[in-house]
Amino acid sequence: MRKPAFRFAPSPNGALHLGHALSALTGSLMAQRCGGRFLLRIEDIDLTRTREQHVAGIVDDLRWLGLMWEQPVLRQSTRFQAYTAALKQLSAADLIYPCFATRSQIQAAVADDPDPTRDPDGVTLPPPALRRVSSREFELRRATGEPYSLRLDMPRAIAAANAKLNGAPLTFREITPAGTIETRTCRPDRWGDCIIRRKDIPASYHLAVVIDDATQGITHVTRGLDLLAATDIHRLLQVLLGLPEPLYHHHALLLGPGGTKLSKSAGDRSIADHRAAGHTPEDLKLQIGITLPQESSPSKDNISVLN
Ligand code: GLU
Repeated sequence: MRKPAFRFAPSPNGALHLGHALSALTGSLMAQRCGGRFLLRIEDIDLTRTREQHVAGIVDDLRWLGLMWEQPVLRQSTRFQAYTAALKQLSAADLIYPCFATRSQIQAAVADDPDPTRDPDGVTLPPPALRRVSSREFELRRATGEPYSLRLDMPRAIAAANAKLNGAPLTFREITPAGTIETRTCRPDRWGDCIIRRKDIPASYHLAVVIDDATQGITHVTRGLDLLAATDIHRLLQVLLGLPEPLYHHHALLLGPGGTKLSKSAGDRSIADHRAAGHTPEDLKLQIGITLPQESSPSKDNISVLN
């Protein structure tokens, strides 16, 4: 029987804070509890924001917390060929299109719209007139070296996924705090034609995450509730690319004093700051107050949690 596999997948563009410690510990402890594997993946597709000192800091912090993970550690910066191959697959099915719209053009175009469509990262979707260009215009502008992103054609992508699922709804299965598995319906349509390959990077978070979860054989994706919305897009891509469906567990977020999500940029203390202040890993674990999903009594559902 295949062992369950969990992962922690930080982006090395800052120091880890307590929210990251919670995610890493949740994955690792759930893996331990069911005799599963625990893997580390460095999500460093954004080479301009990646700093080697942060990669080293992540490893130091996780070791200090007492975590162990399998080798090798997967670095997404070594995986661009796989992402490009997946983009070719989506392009061959006519599910993505090039878009030249710049951030300032988009902002200007939606200036009068009080509630423009945004993707799960909060990035505004350009209005239809700004999205597509004719193939002739595309060739001309590309020839001048003008950068473009690739967007998912959401209505076509949903129709294609629907056909692959033989009309069954697109869903994901979430392990709840009570330890049960809830099947939830995905609504990727609400995010519109999201970016699937950035202008500056030959991938995007959504594309890279689904490909690498599959490559690493991840059976359980454990991460914060801030990424719950992105699961709609991840499931859609998994179906379109023929990738396996993991189980998900989105844990509650640790909030800072103002009720906002913890982040280094908001001045919240990093794990390294806590270490430097003489706190022990046990102090931090107490402060975080990790609550794993309950272990439910053996049932058919529970068996699928473990496998
Ligand atoms: N790299 C993402 C982050 O640091 C997490 C990706 C995931 O867990 O799906 O926010």
